[in-house]
Formats: sequence, structure tokens, C-alpha cells
Amino acid sequence: MYKEQLKDLIIEKYRTRTPLAYVRTFGCRQNESDSERIKGILKETGFDFTDNPENSDIIIYNTCAVRENAELKVFGILGEVKHIKEKNPDLIVVLCGCMTGQKHIVEKIKKTYKQVDIVFGTGALNEFPRLLCELLHEKRFVCDTNEYTDDFSCRTDVVRNSTYKADVPIMYGCNNFCTYCIVPYVRGRERSRPSAEILEEVRSLAEKGYKEIMLLGQNVNSYGKGLDENIDFPTLLRKINGIDGDFRVRFMSSHPKNATRELIDAICECDKVCKHFHLPVQSGSDEILTAMNRNYSASDYLSIVEYAREKIPDFSFSTDIIVGFPNETEEDFQKTLDIMKKVKFDSVFSFIYSKRTGTKAALIDDKISDKEKSERMGRLLALQREISTEHYKRFIGRTLTVLAEEENTEKGLITGKSDEFIIVEFKADSSFLGQFVKVRITGAHNWALTGEIL
Ligand code: SF4
Repeated sequence: MYKEQLKDLIIEKYRTRTPLAYVRTFGCRQNESDSERIKGILKETGFDFTDNPENSDIIIYNTCAVRENAELKVFGILGEVKHIKEKNPDLIVVLCGCMTGQKHIVEKIKKTYKQVDIVFGTGALNEFPRLLCELLHEKRFVCDTNEYTDDFSCRTDVVRNSTYKADVPIMYGCNNFCTYCIVPYVRGRERSRPSAEILEEVRSLAEKGYKEIMLLGQNVNSYGKGLDENIDFPTLLRKINGIDGDFRVRFMSSHPKNATRELIDAICECDKVCKHFHLPVQSGSDEILTAMNRNYSASDYLSIVEYAREKIPDFSFSTDIIVGFPNETEEDFQKTLDIMKKVKFDSVFSFIYSKRTGTKAALIDDKISDKEKSERMGRLLALQREISTEHYKRFIGRTLTVLAEEENTEKGLITGKSDEFIIVEFKADSSFLGQFVKVRITGAHNWALTGEIL
């Protein structure tokens, strides 16, 4: 209803010209996906897009709260926007995303950043047309940070960033409260999207020729809880696998405590689902995992990896690791290196622990120096380089299916990712972009595989 009203208001306000929107996204893939949906609402109601905030009629910052630095950056940018608004008082400035999930931030915006016109939370994305209508009618600051759990933000058109890769949210929020993480406080509790909606979106993407579908959520492994229907994540994967089309399926993020054998069975059975699991281990030490409130042990993690590799010896695992969690000892760190050697991850995304105000871990008196944390990080990266170089050699002489994603025109090379989520580089031209290509692997490096098109 509000979209129709908004369309009329936009025509009335901008008359013969098409107003321009500038959308900037901070943070993770979930935020990128939300921005695609915000752009969908804008497109539907009459806006076009610009890369230049100075030319725009509406500026939207979709913010991240995971690191405090990202928040400081947004406040800095809002300072710059004040000058743009002085030149163009008609400019509408919108702040949304995870930062708005913190009351003190919303208060600070209201009090100090008068250039902001609309604030809405991650659970109120569908309310955006209503809020914009209210602003245009009443010409005063509007704010909505409620969680509209029955009003899922996916029921809108989407302006996608890619023509062959698509993110499909299947759930929002998180119930886990890992002690280092702010997400449950700013994105609320888990809400799953009804499976019929997800299947419809995937079906439509497959018909349009999309090649890779990424199922998104803070903890996709616990999909289905709280829905009226009787469904879990393995069942959802099987249903998506049954949709016609030449596409592959990935998913993120996962939590090891919900990574069951049934899930591994489903991944192994479904030919469209990549045999790759990004499963954040975070640490190899049970003491640190307990301090992180992760609710699994290193041996629980290893038993899932072993089960997958018994079924498919080449099953690929990648992971996230936090180095230098408060009071991590050398012994704890050695256990992390041990689990890396045992699993042989194909890739590791490692981060030095960064204190986040508002989380439990931020209250721990940390005795480990920054120098020591950096030194551990260096050792971890060196080990992973060794593991990748050695482990990638298993592909030499074999043929992998690669989705061609980027062109290096200078070198005449295309890079893409294999089903195993490994970067593969090969000689080809741009006509292959967005297509699946069979590549025979001829070389293995610590960052990628090289090969030639069959
Ligand atoms: S599972 Fe843990 S790390 Fe992931 S979003 Fe939830 S609280 Fe944060």
C-alpha cells in the first residue's frame, strides 16, 4: 500500500525527472543482500541509482556494528554529508543496518546528527516505504527500529549486484550469543523465512539463468525453528536441489553445534549443493571455545569433518579463526594449529580478536599483548600457506567445474571458483564470464589453482 502512495509522492516531488539514490553498504554479505532489497524498493517506487552522493536525492547508509571502527567511519561520513545537505537541503539521508540496533547510537543520531532524516532497523526493512511517505508528508525525523517478525524483508523486488550469482536470505537473527559477537543484540532472535517463499525465489532465479545461489543467514544450520511448517535445513536443501536448472547451491553462515550428520548426508546426496562447507571453528582449544560460548568441542568439530570425508574423501572445508581471544595461552594457540593440520582447510579466514563494547568478552581483563597476538597470527598464516600449497596438489591433473567470475584483461586470464570454493585461474576471454567452465588443473599455489579450459 505504502509503495503506491510513495510512487505518487515521488512523482509529485520530482515531477519530470527521475530522482537518484546513492546506497552504500558496510559489513557482511547479509547487509549486501539487505541493500539489494532496499534498492528493489527504491527502483519500484521511481528511483534510479548513482555512484556519486553529491548528485543524489537520497543517500542510504546500510551500516555494520561488528567492529567499532566501522561505526566511527560512518559517523565521519555523516559529518561530510552535512556539507552536501547544506548545498542541497532537499537531500534525504537514511541510516539503517546493524548500528541502528543499539539504542545509544540511535539517541546520538537524533541528538547530534540532524542531517539524518530516517533511521530504520534490520527488522523494519519492509517499513521503509511507509517511513519515506511519513517523511515526505510530515517533514520531520522518522525512526523505526522495531522487529516486524511476521513481515519478512524478502517480499520485495531485488536489484541484484550480479547477473549470475544471487544471495537468497533464508533466515535472520541469531540465538547463539557467542561472547565476542554483537550480532544477536543488533539483529535480534532467529526468524526463518517460509520455505515456499524461498523455493519460489530460487525457482525464479534458476529460470533467469542464475548459476550460483547462496543461501544466507546468521546460522543457516538451524533453519526452520519457529516456523509453522515442519522443516529443517537438510530438508530445505533437498527441496532446492529438486528445482530444475543449471545452478549450484552454497550456504553461509554455519555453526558447528548445528552441523549434523543429517546435514552432511543431504549435502552429499544433492548434486547441486557444492561439496564445500564453510564451518567457522574459531579455536582448537576447548577452554577458549567454552569462553567463547560456542557449545562444541574440538573433537565434536573433528567428528563432523571425519564423517563428511568418509562419505566424500575430497569434501572441502574452510573456516574462520579468531587469534588472540582474551587470555588465549600458547597452549591454546597450539591446539588451533593442531586442528588446522588435522582438518587441512582449503582456506582460513583469520582475524586478530578485536574487542567489541557491549559483548561479554569485552569485559575480560586480557593479559595477552598485541605483539604476541600479531606474532601468533603470522605463524597461523604461514602454516595455512603450507597446508593450502600441499593440499591443493590433490587437484593437479583433475578437471574441476569453475564458475568464471572475473577477467584480468592485461594477462588474458579469467578467475573463478570451483565447487570446492577454491580460486581457479585460466586463460580465456570475457565471453566465459558467468558460465560454468570445465578446467583441467595444471598447477597448485597457496592461494589458487591454475589450469586450462578443456
Ligand atoms: S553464531 Fe555467534 S558469531 Fe555467529 S552471529 Fe551468532 S553470536 Fe555472532
